[in-house]
Amino acid sequence: MLSRAGNIEQIKAAAASGQVFDLIVIGGGATGLGSAVDAASRGLKVLLLESHDFAKGTSSRATKLAHGGVRYLAQGNFSLVTEALEERGRMLKNAPNLVKPLAFIIPAYRWFDKLFYWIGLKTYDLLAGKLGVGPTTMVKLDQVLKTIPTLRQKGLRGGVRYFDAQFDDARLAVALMKTLHKLGGMAVNYMAATGFVKQNGQITGVQLKCKFSGENFELKSKAVINATGVWVDEVRRMDDANTQSILSPSQGVHVVVDRSFYPSEEALLVPKTEDGRVLFVVPWLGKTLIGTTDTARQDSPYEPEALPGEVDFVLRTAGQYLNPPPTARDVSSVFVGLRPLVKQGGSTSTKSISREHTILTDDSGLVTITGGKWTTYRSMAEEVIDLVCRQHRLTSRPSGTRDMRLADELPDRVNHLKLSSKLDLTLNEIQIAVREEMAMTVEDVMARRSRALFLDSKAALACMQYAADVIKAHLGHTDEEMERQKQEFERLVEQYSL
Ligand SMILES: Cc1cc2nc3c(=O)[nH]c(=O)nc-3n(C[C@H](O)[C@H](O)[C@H](O)COP(=O)(O)OP(=O)(O)OC[C@H]3O[C@@H](n4cnc5c(N)ncnc54)[C@H](O)[C@@H]3O)c2cc1C
Repeated sequence: MLSRAGNIEQIKAAAASGQVFDLIVIGGGATGLGSAVDAASRGLKVLLLESHDFAKGTSSRATKLAHGGVRYLAQGNFSLVTEALEERGRMLKNAPNLVKPLAFIIPAYRWFDKLFYWIGLKTYDLLAGKLGVGPTTMVKLDQVLKTIPTLRQKGLRGGVRYFDAQFDDARLAVALMKTLHKLGGMAVNYMAATGFVKQNGQITGVQLKCKFSGENFELKSKAVINATGVWVDEVRRMDDANTQSILSPSQGVHVVVDRSFYPSEEALLVPKTEDGRVLFVVPWLGKTLIGTTDTARQDSPYEPEALPGEVDFVLRTAGQYLNPPPTARDVSSVFVGLRPLVKQGGSTSTKSISREHTILTDDSGLVTITGGKWTTYRSMAEEVIDLVCRQHRLTSRPSGTRDMRLADELPDRVNHLKLSSKLDLTLNEIQIAVREEMAMTVEDVMARRSRALFLDSKAALACMQYAADVIKAHLGHTDEEMERQKQEFERLVEQYSL
């Protein structure tokens, strides 16, 4: 049985005996979890450290699309699109409970646009080859309106339907964490890397600190990967205080509204917003997810707030297409994610910065991987583990993840009572989250094992005590700790509500 307490015992034993890991991965988002799974699939002894909860960072705040990136196609970035389309196909095969095909409609207001989108998306189909999800087609006006009954009709000429896929990002992170354990690896949340152990300037181990007990440990490892997303520069500074930052983060805001604003099984792609981007309106877990923005920022808080104008922009743009238009009063949750974009030659506009990933090795041997997309987590992981294996002569075994089924099973909701009329949340899934999925806090249960906070923040607050009771009973946290967790969650609910 998966248990954090059991993992901590193993860490203590490893620290006491001076055991040497093949690899320690710092960061439990898509990139770190993917890398650890890849290493374990080659038989390496691997440990992953996450300072907060798995997917607490960017990896729970995506638009949740496994996609080649229609936008990158328009930019002519065919290699990125082809790689992502291949990985989209693998995600569908390897985690079928969590990744599902999704049709998208692009509305066309001029005949020329319809032809233009159709040609572009036929190219997308061609690039996907055998791993295509479904064929791009032109759709007549009446069919578009039948598919999306709330779409504004004025001037509409029809549209184009194409296919991508959708997944639950935080749940996919949990699936990777479970897969890692099945392969004999280990991941621990609330365990921050705080420094490095070095010999002759080379990293030989990692210092870590448990957020609950405050205990410090030192573990030895042949190789260390820094996969901490927008926080990679902080970890690189633990290695060398004078190192230059490589990131230029940008934030993206999503709002969630009721399904009645968008009663459709297919998503909408608004191909060109005022600021020259795209906007998605996506059916997600019984609600409607709308986003996103692209706003450069200098800092990297764990709970970034929407900046003035961002929510307005998302609602205004959606309102140009939907009737009735969703307003601030209709928003049940707002969540904000930070893109770990790698700086390129002095560019100030983040939307022109490449979404491709970067891997770099510092003089100490620390390997940093950041950038990329959720969709390409697996190929990024394969590449970085190939590199680390070569650098440290760890193994010549190739990655075993291309066709590996992930531990993507979901808790049974059908046969259990719902805790709220507004949420698909059951006591059973809360219990599974705490007993089997390493949820340690009210927030872990309500934000990432279930997605309650992201779907309807106030309804999540109304269910908070159920999670608190299960956590206290199973993990034995003190009353003070439970009070702290509830207050922290109330603060988050405030932030996620408009
Ligand atoms: C608004 C938005 C929408 C997006 N939509 C999509 C999409 O639809 N499809 C798609 O494919 N991609 C999408 N992406 C991109 C994708 O979400 C990211 O590329 C991906 O989640 C990055 O994962 P990561 O593991 O590198 O970073 P993170 O998920 O941020 O993980 C880094 C982890 O490191 C941990 N950490 C930090 N410091 C330490 C330390 N000292 N010790 C231990 N742990 C530490 C953090 O707590 C964090 O959990 C989107 C991104 C954004 C911002």
